[in-house]
Amino acid sequence: MNEIACTRPFRLPAEASPLGFRQRPTKVLLEVDGLTKQFRQGEAAAVERVSFAMGEGELLSLLGPSGCGKTTTLRLIGGFEAPDAGRILLRGRDITGLPPEARGIGFVFQDYALFPHLTVAENVRFGLRGMPRARAEARVAEMLALVGLADFGARRPHELSGGQQQRVALARTLAIAPPLVLMDEPFSNLDAAMRVETRQDVRRLLKAAGSAAILVTHDQEEALALSDRIAVMEAGRLRQVGTPDEIYRNPTSAFVASFLGRSNILAGRAEGMDAVTPLGRLPLSRAASGAVQIAVRPEQILLDPDPAGPATVVGREFRGHDQIYWVQEGETCMLVISGPGAPIAVGSRVRMRVCDCVVPVA
Ligand code: ADP
Ligand code: MG
Repeated sequence: MNEIACTRPFRLPAEASPLGFRQRPTKVLLEVDGLTKQFRQGEAAAVERVSFAMGEGELLSLLGPSGCGKTTTLRLIGGFEAPDAGRILLRGRDITGLPPEARGIGFVFQDYALFPHLTVAENVRFGLRGMPRARAEARVAEMLALVGLADFGARRPHELSGGQQQRVALARTLAIAPPLVLMDEPFSNLDAAMRVETRQDVRRLLKAAGSAAILVTHDQEEALALSDRIAVMEAGRLRQVGTPDEIYRNPTSAFVASFLGRSNILAGRAEGMDAVTPLGRLPLSRAASGAVQIAVRPEQILLDPDPAGPATVVGREFRGHDQIYWVQEGETCMLVISGPGAPIAVGSRVRMRVCDCVVPVA
């Protein structure tokens, strides 16, 4: 028997605005409007009409597969590339034509770009050139304490772990109290365990400093774990912007449904709030009509062992906290994830029950 309880149906809330806000935040920090960049004539644009907005202190992940334009978008916002079209407003000021150093935006590079010959404290102080010495010293001490490296000021970068180097780079950036920090794949140099630990540190530190951040990542788990909102990109375009929960539950395209988490995509025929599918008539999360593709999450399917059932378990993978099944019913093969309960052997006949609203996707 499968022990997972059915989840409550989730219906789509009102449409989001074109800039990705459901409700405009009280204080808008960044507005990116129609940003476009084409590196070579005749080739597809690396970034095409990307528009979104962020509130003060918000953490936004730019998520998408390699080559979809994430780094280019970040470099355009930072001022390291000039757009062919579009505008960037920071706190209402048009910064599109400004050089990077005049934008007041912090940037944490993928390799941290720490100076190897300088100590940790000197690295953090680097951004504070021009500040009176005593104030700068106090600020460095404050930042090192914030990132949990108060006792490491005299070390050099090579005497630190990858996670600690990451925190020094962040301390150096946050020392100038930027309203916005840009981070490109900030955890890619860390091993898997360190990555999980460091991403929560980074979230906590940014929130403590009150800085907003855009984090570029191709790792959906990372985006889900640390963002307030996620902006999903595909082939230079922004496909969907929303909270992790909204995007996971209500992907608007098969691409997003499959890139963020895993999905079974079924062909079906929608009739209002229901659709006829190879697995029978299923309730939809939003109204649709005619031929549609439908995303069914692997955890939305319950398996009931039944010798007279119409489906067969054709594969199984035990993962400790859950198990993955591949289940064939007629022409349709479904991926099913169920809890750690009693295993169902490969070859068993089962009945699939979809226990939640499913999502029509473009
Ligand atoms: P991502 O960060 O999502 O992996 P990028 O923004 O780095 O993607 O790249 C998007 C596209 O733009 C890719 O096709 C890449 O080859 C191209 N591109 C990026 N930078 C340059 C450049 N400086 N010159 C020419 N093409 C570039
Ligand atoms: Mg990149």
